[in-house]
Parts: sequence; structure tokens; C-alpha cells
Amino acid sequence: MYRAFLIKYGEIGVKGKNRYLFEDALVKQIEHSLKRVEGEFKVSKESGRIYVNVTSESYDYDDTIKALTSVFGIIGVCPMVQVEDHGFDELAKETIAYMDRAYPDKKLTFKVEARRARKEYPLNSQEINVLMGEKVLMAFEEQGMRVDVHHPDVLLCVEIRNKINIYSQELKGRGGMPVGTNGKAMLLLSGGIDSPVAGFLAAKRGITVEAVYFNSPPYTSERAKQKVVDLAKEISRYCGPVKLHIVNFTEIQLHLYDKVPQDELTIIMKRYFYRVAETIARKEGCIGLVTGESVGQVSSQTLQSLAVINEVATMPVIRPLVCFDKQEIIDISIDIGTYETSILPYEDCCTIFVAKHPVTKPSSEKIAKHEARVAESIVPLLEEALANVEVVVAE
Ligand code: ATP
Ligand code: MG
Repeated sequence: MYRAFLIKYGEIGVKGKNRYLFEDALVKQIEHSLKRVEGEFKVSKESGRIYVNVTSESYDYDDTIKALTSVFGIIGVCPMVQVEDHGFDELAKETIAYMDRAYPDKKLTFKVEARRARKEYPLNSQEINVLMGEKVLMAFEEQGMRVDVHHPDVLLCVEIRNKINIYSQELKGRGGMPVGTNGKAMLLLSGGIDSPVAGFLAAKRGITVEAVYFNSPPYTSERAKQKVVDLAKEISRYCGPVKLHIVNFTEIQLHLYDKVPQDELTIIMKRYFYRVAETIARKEGCIGLVTGESVGQVSSQTLQSLAVINEVATMPVIRPLVCFDKQEIIDISIDIGTYETSILPYEDCCTIFVAKHPVTKPSSEKIAKHEARVAESIVPLLEEALANVEVVVAE
């Protein structure tokens, strides 16, 4: 029944020039998101509004709604019936037909809310409200429909524009800002539950997300790597295509394993994660890092540990989950569809090289001192790893 959708987006902070950037980014993300859906669509901007029109004969309605409500920046999606202007009587017929199909059960209250963007239309908004209200009421009164101008069940919108839009339903979007409006950051993406959620949340604020995964073959399997690629694909539903950099970290890890105290291994390894991630980030034009770290979750995520790891960062490190409980993170991962993949049992590189008794209150001085032992010898290994990064665009 629907061949068109009105896209509602948050207006706060999108005045002047920013408005164009915001709308253009939104159109681009909508187009990307609809690529997954069966059917052909046209996304257009028209006098401060964004419309999606179906251009193919058939399409998948549920998937369309799912795709549209996944795009950040959208607060609501209204499926509409769009008709040409053939005079008021014809419009009344179309509107009655719309109400008939949209609400099989007619025991409801409604109110007409007309808007007239085209001022030469012969009736003004108030006149349309009254006349259309009467027509619809007459059609369905016997079946129990009533008018309620204060608290209607259904707000029936009739908008007179180039075409006429009839709609009354709004499906909730996720809000946020369109990806591409707030710079680009490098997500440290592991196969766990947290980092995909962190990437999702960074993208929700309009950040374009690239990702880096530290792989340790043969200590980690091909399937562990595939799992990370799959997770990148899953978040691309929200983030747009995710450029994933896969770094072979094995030699670096073995070297550290050999040379630094066991209880400090995780912290020092994480510092190298940050350094390598930043090097790639800089090359890619990213201006921040994103991680799935959350205070207190594991020994390497006590505030002291985070502070010592953070010392090597020169870019802002965005940690969207920093104060979330594990259960809250799990709830989001279930909601966004990454949970099932995240809990597949393939180990990531950290679990192989974990110490039995890792430090929970690392000393910045000690770490720096022990790290200095490898500072020189690790350089060729870092260069080697950086020269052989595998890139996958996940979408
Ligand atoms: P996650 O659920 O995201 O794997 P975690 O609870 O397992 O996180 P850690 O292993 O301490 O926690 O990792 C903390 C963060 O460090 C991760 O959220 C991720 O951002 C980054 N990270 C960990 N391992 C890797 C890896 N192999 N490649 C890239 N980033 C990683
Ligand atoms: Mg992990």
C-alpha cells in the first residue's frame, strides 16, 4: 500500500550550512542502507524534507523499514500515500481509502492535521481540517470512528505540496547524527561483545568508523578473523562500509612475550595496539581512536590500567562504553544484532597470551622502563606488520 516514506530527522544544530552537510550525509547513508533491501528506491531532498520513493514494482516493506530506522540521524519514518492533486473531492476519496486500509479496526478517534505548503491551493489548512474531518467521519462513523481534537488515537496528516502526502504513522528511528558529519575514527575491533557496540555508538554520533583488528595466527584461527570481518559487516548496517585493517601481530606479541614481565604483558601489548592503530589512523585521515574498554571490566581495564595504556595515545580515545555495565552492553549488542556472532567461541589474541596474575595497578614508570627494553628491537617487527596490513571493506 505504501510507495513513499517521509524521513523525519532531528533539527537541533542543523541550521545554515550545516543543514546541507547533515542532509547530504543522511541521503548518502539512506541510499547505502537501502542497498540491502529488495527493491529500487529514489531518495530525494525537497524543501527541507527527505523522501524515499519506491521505483520498482515490488519491494520488501519490512526490510525497508528496518533499513531506514537503522540510519543514524533519522528520528522517525512515516509510510505515506502520495497522490497527485485532482481536486478536493478526489483527495477526500484517497484519504478515506487510506484510512480504510491503514486501520482495519475502525473503533478509533482521529483528527486531521492539514498543512498547505502550496499557498494557491483553494482551501486553507483549517478548512481542510474541517472538511476532511467530516468526510472521513461520514465514511466510518457507523463503524465506530470518532473525532477527538485533543487526544486522537490517529493524527491524520494531509500535506499539500507538489504532490499530496497522506500519512498517520511514524516508526521510531534511532536518532543520533548521520555518519560522515563528525570526522573519522579508528575502532579497535576484536571479536568480543564490546568493541562492535563501541563502534555502533561512535557512529551514532556521526563518526565515520574504520577498524583495525590485531590478528595472531596461528595462535588465533582463520575463523577468529572471519568472525571479526563478520562483525564489521554487521555494524556496517549502521556505520556504512567499514574499512577493516587486519594487522598480523604475532611476531610483535611473541617478542613482547619473550622480553617483558608476564604480569605487564597485557598492558604493554595494549600500548602497542594503540600505537599501531594510531599509525594506521593517521595515514587514513582518522582523528581519534575508539575502543570497547569499560572501567573495571577486566584487570587491564581498571582506571589505573586505562591511564597507563592511554599514556601512549596522542589522539583522543573515545570509549563509548566506559561506564556501562556488562549487561547493558550485552543488551545493546542483542538489539543491534552483533551478539550472536560475538559469542562464537573463537579466541582473540589477548586470551592466548594472558598472564595468570596481571597487574591491576600498573606503575607508569615501571611499564615505561620495561617497555624501553624492547623499544629498539621491536621497530623492524612493527614496520613489517605495517607493511603487510590486509584491508577488507566490510559492507
Ligand atoms: P571486547 O569485548 O571488545 O573484545 P574485552 O572485554 O574482551 O573487549 P579487552 O580484551 O581488554 O576487553 O579489550 C579491550 C578493547 O581493546 C576492546 O574492546 C577492543 O577495542 C581492543 N582490542 C582487544 N583485542 C583486540 C584485537 N585483537 N584487535 C583489535 N582491538 C582489540
Ligand atoms: Mg575481547
